[in-house]
Amino acid sequence: MPIRIALRQASRQITRRRLATELGRRYASTPSTFQWDDPLNSQSLFTDEELAVQETARSYCQEQLLPRVLDAYRNEHYHREILTEMGELGLLGPTIQGYGCAGVSSIASGLITREVERVDSGYRSGMSVQSSLVMGPIDEFGTKEQKDRWLEKLGQGKLVGCFGLTEPNHGSDPGSMETTAKPHPSKEGYYSLSGAKTWITNSPIADVLVVWAKLQETGKIKGFVIERDQCPAGTLETPPLKNKNGLRASITGMIQLDECPVPKENMFPDVEGLRGPFACLNSARYGIAWGVMGALEDAIARTRTYALERRQFKNNPIAKYQLVQKKLADACTDAAYGIQAAYQVGRLKDEGKIAPEMISMIKRQNCDRALINCRHLQEVFGGNAVSDEYHIGRHVANLFVTQTYEGQSDIHALILGRAITGLQAFV
Ligand SMILES: Cc1cc2nc3c(=O)[nH]c(=O)nc-3n(C[C@H](O)[C@H](O)[C@H](O)COP(=O)(O)OP(=O)(O)OC[C@H]3O[C@@H](n4cnc5c(N)ncnc54)[C@H](O)[C@@H]3O)c2cc1C
Repeated sequence: MPIRIALRQASRQITRRRLATELGRRYASTPSTFQWDDPLNSQSLFTDEELAVQETARSYCQEQLLPRVLDAYRNEHYHREILTEMGELGLLGPTIQGYGCAGVSSIASGLITREVERVDSGYRSGMSVQSSLVMGPIDEFGTKEQKDRWLEKLGQGKLVGCFGLTEPNHGSDPGSMETTAKPHPSKEGYYSLSGAKTWITNSPIADVLVVWAKLQETGKIKGFVIERDQCPAGTLETPPLKNKNGLRASITGMIQLDECPVPKENMFPDVEGLRGPFACLNSARYGIAWGVMGALEDAIARTRTYALERRQFKNNPIAKYQLVQKKLADACTDAAYGIQAAYQVGRLKDEGKIAPEMISMIKRQNCDRALINCRHLQEVFGGNAVSDEYHIGRHVANLFVTQTYEGQSDIHALILGRAITGLQAFV
């Protein structure tokens, strides 16, 4: 059910109690019962609208994405149609007002990423890039013409976008980027972009590419929207990076620009320096903090089921053993804490009371804890952990990437360290 319809229903008729029942929750009637899959009762924090969005996203992900993920991961194949399906449901650019977007809260958008990543971090990455890193900057920094031109089609998944910041020689330090934009030597009203971006989600299939480059005239970083179908042959290449050992259900590639002509009106006019890319990344990092909790929650559920069924020593379920229980207790605790923290930051975000360091904190902590706990839970599966049909190994491989991209965890530690001490440790 599209989010817009779900929201209408939520405001008209769906009560919190009925939604709670639909979601299989028992809190509405027995609020004091401990639920292993929601230990701190986060469901009680969400509005009816947010619960309706969560239900829409969960149904889609479990019914439409989960059946595809093993094939996608094995064959390193991204199903392009997923973005169209997500667009039809209103899952893309969900916090944007207008342009056919759902215009929901930051909590609701977090709940969407959590449901998508419950299936696979790669699917969530493809969606996050489209929503936060492509639609986000167009909505925040774009001119009216730019918004009119791209936002609705991106929101419907008719166009695919990518976000090019990382370069082969500059990842954690994007300020040193080498990609340049200079006035085009022969085309009036155009810039000429040259340089290379790497590890770019969606780039091989992207119709519009948000690329950050240094303006040669000023040395300042500016953002450009490149339209693939407007680029002369040989000026834009986006070769895929194959044989990844994580995030295999997403598509990743390079962006190679060789004097690529880009109209001046495709530049974001008023944003300069790293503020532009960092603003988009903050929004995406916030989504990652929610998303990785979905992957961890899926790992917990699968591990619990496995541990209750698997029997060793005197025919006991391995769930009976203390070391297995400790792994589950650690993971459940970290998932519950992570959701509470993401929730708090989401509410502050919508109230305009957010500091970027808050996002660094939840991105780092939730990614680190999701990865560490999944690695421990993987042990519960013994040899079966090696089979992809148990899904746990896929989550572990994916979560390494989530801990690495959009600011590797140690870089976020340095951001926090700078805020705590007032001293810069990057250089
Ligand atoms: C699958 C995938 C998808 C991606 N998608 C995108 C995308 O869509 N768009 C995009 O722009 N980028 C994307 N990235 C790139 C990603 O953001 C970068 O890989 C990440 O920022 C790290 O940069 P790097 O790989 O160059 O590592 P480096 O910067 O070389 O860092 C390597 C290690 O050194 C550490 N390090 C670096 N500097 C310091 C320091 N000063 N102090 C202490 N430690 C330090 C880092 O913490 C890290 O552990 C993607 C990456 C992957 C793997």
